[in-house]
This record gives sequence, structure tokens and C-alpha cells, in this order.
Amino acid sequence: MDYREKLLSGEKLTEDEWVLAIECRDRSFDDLIREKASSIRDSIYGRKVYCRGLIEFTSYCRNDCLYCGLRRSSADALRYRLTPDLILDTVDHGYEAGFRTFVLQGGEDRYFDDERLSLIVRSIKEMHPDAAVTLSVGERSTESYRRLKEAGADRYLLRHETADSEHYSHLHPADMSRENRIRCLHDLKELGYQTGAGMMVGSPGSSSRTLARDMVFLTDLRPEMVGIGPFIPHSSTPFRNEKRGSVELTLRMLSLVRIALPHAMIPSTTALATASSDGQLQGILHGANVIMPDITPQEERGKYMIYDGKKITDEEAGENLERIAESMRSIGYELSMERGDYIS
Ligand code: SAH
Repeated sequence: MDYREKLLSGEKLTEDEWVLAIECRDRSFDDLIREKASSIRDSIYGRKVYCRGLIEFTSYCRNDCLYCGLRRSSADALRYRLTPDLILDTVDHGYEAGFRTFVLQGGEDRYFDDERLSLIVRSIKEMHPDAAVTLSVGERSTESYRRLKEAGADRYLLRHETADSEHYSHLHPADMSRENRIRCLHDLKELGYQTGAGMMVGSPGSSSRTLARDMVFLTDLRPEMVGIGPFIPHSSTPFRNEKRGSVELTLRMLSLVRIALPHAMIPSTTALATASSDGQLQGILHGANVIMPDITPQEERGKYMIYDGKKITDEEAGENLERIAESMRSIGYELSMERGDYIS
């Protein structure tokens, strides 16, 4: 069977077949997979786009990932951390505005040890038992993930970044390893988190081969969430002069992931919105079903600069829910403030 038929009939593709799908130059193929991705998403989640409140609560990081503007050795990164009280206030405000999922994302900041972070998670769940808490704070020990789960965390986002070992070492310093990242993802799944993996598209050293390996990795792991965005260079990183990832290829990858993992929660990411003015809507039209408006308090908003030009106004801001809802309606979708758990 041809790789296209396999793809459309829901069969698992081999790495070589993924390469063909990723490289296909046929314009009609884009239409085909976009429509397929969209109809799969509609059949499982309807025309709802789930809304998550994103709180970027610390820009301190002990890691030195070569692509990220918050890397340890970036001297001009603006560092801040929200106090636990301010995090809880932010959640309260978000809850009043209607949010029922809070995503706590940050650098790997030692200040937020298990005790502090568990206390924050526990307090949020006590105040708002009907809200979901998603953590995205990088690699931690198995024990740490266990404690945070016990404290009430529901979901965890940890992009695998690339499934290719050599590429992984090109993007990360020697003290980080693909093995540990994957160990973390397996721990999270085993502990019962709804787990998110994902990758940047067009990061330095990537190719259709590395993306094909990502697809094989994702279809083996079967994470509940998949985050995909274009790589965007940051001026104070070693990758400052690298090319940004292609929006078209990112959209194609979104559709392929939707087809391969029909039930996955897939955000239309800020990086996509930053790279293209209609990126966020295009993401939805290509199979995504989640958006994550930024609800970080105004004083600190904009300091979480992982890449240059990160979009912090307009559609990305939590204050503009009505505008976001309106733009979703304009393409035939409904903004949903429900908790929006993975449907298995
Ligand atoms: N410290 C956490 C959160 C990282 S920020 C963790 O390690 O998981 C969330 C994601 O932003 C990263 O996983 C990465 O895929 C993406 N990112 C970082 N730098 C980027 C860049 N320059 N361009 C595009 N995406 C980037």
C-alpha cells in the first residue's frame, strides 16, 4: 500500500514512509491531510477549541539549551519569578474569567523544589477542585513527579524536542541527554499524568529524517498531548543566525500528528502565532484543538522570552477572551472554557 493510503486508513507508517509524507511536494496532499486532520478532530472533539490559562511563573533556568533565550548562560535574559501568592492570585483571577485549566510553565528553577511546587499545586486544587493543573517545568526525578502528582497535578508538558540522538546533542549541552528526557516522559505516563510531548519544527540540524523519527516516536509513545511549533531564533543564543522553521511545514506536521494520534490534545502554539499573523487560526484549521492564552501578570509578561519577538498582545493575551472567541467563530469554531480532558 502507498504511504498515503496507509496514512488515511489509520495504519502505522514506517520511518521511511514518514519521510515521504513530510517531503511530498504535491499541493493536493496538503489539502487532503488538512481536511482529514480536521474531520478527525471534529469527530472526536467537535468544533471546540479548548482554552488553557498559561502562567509563565519563572524565567530562571539551570539548563543551557542552545535554542532557548532563557538558557543559563544568556546574560541579558530578564529573570523573574512569581511568588507562590502571586501565582495563586493569578489562578484566582483566571478562574473568575472562566479558565478551568492552568498551565504552570517555567525554566528549571531550583527555587521551586518539590515542597514549594507541591504546596502551590495543592492550594490550587483546594481552592478550585474542578480545575485542571498542568505543569511544564522540565526534567525532574521520578520521585519528584510522584510527589507533584500526589499534590494533585493532572497533566505535564515536556516536549521531547527531537527523537534523534545526534540531533538532540546538537540542540543541548553535554550534561543533558535524550535518554533522560525520554525517561521523564515514561515516568509521567506511568504515574498517570496526561502527558505532552512534542518538538520544534525546523530547529538547527533538523531534517525530514529527524521529523520522521519524531513521528515514529510519537506514535509509539502515544502521548495525550502534542506541542509543535516552528523554531524561532533568539538573538542571545548560539543559534541567533539560524533560519526560523517554516510555518507551512509546521502546519503539515500538525495535520500528520492529528491523523496519527486522533485523540491527542494539540495546541495551536504561540510560536506559530508569532511566526505568522494568522498562524493561530491556521493551526486550528490544520487539526489543533487547544489554545493557551497568556495570563501571566502584566508586570512580568513579556519577560519569558524563549525566542525573539514572542507574541504577547492581541490574540495571545488572556484579557482578550471575547476577541479570541470571535476569531474562532469566524472560522467556524467555538472557544470552550471547559476543563477539556483527553478523551480516550
Ligand atoms: N523548561 C520547560 C519549558 C520550556 S519552554 C521544559 O524544559 O520543558 C517550552 C518549549 O518552548 C520548549 O519545550 C521548546 O520546544 C520551545 N522553545 C524553546 N526555545 C524555542 C525557540 N527558540 N523557538 C521555538 N520554540 C522554542
